[in-house]
Amino acid sequence: MEIELGSSSRVLRVAVVGSGPAGFYAAESVLGSGISVEVDMFDRLPAPFGLVRYGVAPDHGSIKRIIARYEKTASRSEFMFFGNVDVGEDVAVDELHHYYDALIFAGGASADRRLGIPGEDLPRSYTATDFVAWYNGHPAYRQRQFDLSGEVAIVIGQGNVAVDVARILSRPVDELARTDIAAHALEQLAESAVREVHMIGRRGPAQAAFTGPEVKELGRLNGCRLVVNPADLELNATSRAELEDPGRRERRKNYELLTVAAAATSDLDSGDGDNPHRTLAIEFFKSPKELVGGNGVEGVVLERNELVGGAGSQKAQGTGENSLLPCDMVFRSVGYRGVATKGVPFDEARGVIPNDRGRVLDGGTPAPGMYTAGWIKRGPSGVIGTNKPDAIETVGCLLEDVRGLPACDEPSRDAVRELLSERAIRVVDYPAWRRIDAAEIERGKAVGKPREKFVTVDEMLEAAGV
Ligand code: NAP
Repeated sequence: MEIELGSSSRVLRVAVVGSGPAGFYAAESVLGSGISVEVDMFDRLPAPFGLVRYGVAPDHGSIKRIIARYEKTASRSEFMFFGNVDVGEDVAVDELHHYYDALIFAGGASADRRLGIPGEDLPRSYTATDFVAWYNGHPAYRQRQFDLSGEVAIVIGQGNVAVDVARILSRPVDELARTDIAAHALEQLAESAVREVHMIGRRGPAQAAFTGPEVKELGRLNGCRLVVNPADLELNATSRAELEDPGRRERRKNYELLTVAAAATSDLDSGDGDNPHRTLAIEFFKSPKELVGGNGVEGVVLERNELVGGAGSQKAQGTGENSLLPCDMVFRSVGYRGVATKGVPFDEARGVIPNDRGRVLDGGTPAPGMYTAGWIKRGPSGVIGTNKPDAIETVGCLLEDVRGLPACDEPSRDAVRELLSERAIRVVDYPAWRRIDAAEIERGKAVGKPREKFVTVDEMLEAAGV
């Protein structure tokens, strides 16, 4: 008799690898599809929520409220969390095929893109990805060292991650102390000597990747003066046309906010203003050519750019005019990059799993029962909510394929638990995670924080009681 997956006679077994926003939206979508389905979600860490827990800045607590939605999914009986299980290491992808009819890879993008310029790996040249994971208490980044004893920091890139890094370096530490920032990061930021942050973009104010609310916030930081050079706001005709495009309202808003900041900068330059503790300069039309220094980075050689190309696709082109901006540290924030999982096709050049609308492609043809969602599917772009339609698209393909999927041999959650137990993997299920969660919140109460995160896997497992 032919097996009908997703029917009352045979539940569809789905594994979601990765418990960040993309994983949770995919789980929500497949569980809400009306078919008979079970979803097991794997994460290599004992804690769920991926980027929401380890990427969203600690002073952006309201964004983390989205977790309430993911908890609804996690509370369904058809859902099971397998935390502290590293797919590709603790259990092979081939083995998952034995227990699941469909696999959805939603592991995000945890590595960084490189600049590919001399001096990039000098001491005190850091990646934003490391810094963000460190201040958010990611266990794998706990031991990273950031030397904040110098006064001048350069942040390369102008996406929202660069803004997060610039803001965390510039915000008064007593404000950070009321967030869920990791204790080790708070301690080091309290000692930080950073007084001057430069956030450098290779293109102009009409192309900057950051978004309005984020740049607005930079203008309102206590004790920090936002500096924008009015000369940087002079636009070429193509950029003016870009800003008039109704589809680029976000960029126009950015430009208006930068104009206000530039006017305030001029007022302060004329002596009319306060005496802030720190400055944060947003600078445009400059590309890093080289990081220079002896025992550590001491400056960045920047080449002046002009823009070439048509509206919407203008690129930065060097003019040959170089200048040296001295500094004590550099944070490279030019985008995240996906990392391959053993047993899953991977496009090294793009840092994503090759796919067609979420169907994983192996050598150009769909790999049966394999799907992908989120940053590892489309690249590191968009806000948390962008992952919802993205995951829905993937699950739509899965549901279209359901009748033709190769049914797995052992559709049993208990069998998966047994396999992991034989391997002595200490699985953190959702109730166990809730114990970690409660313990963190309790620890936070003692220090006036919403939570004090555990920053090692051992501490988490102990709190989980597994
Ligand atoms: P991003 O938005 O793609 O920004 C990357 C930045 O790096 C851009 O300014 C880009 O300039 C620059 N860049 C790339 N290559 C460069 C090079 N070789 N030299 C100099 N500059 C270079 O990436 P992201 O900041 O990592 O953010 C990832 C996603 O997460 C984004 O969609 C972001 O909006 C989102 N996010 C959102 C929030 C929030 O909502 N609060 C917070 C954090 C992140 P070009 O524009 O010239 O390419």
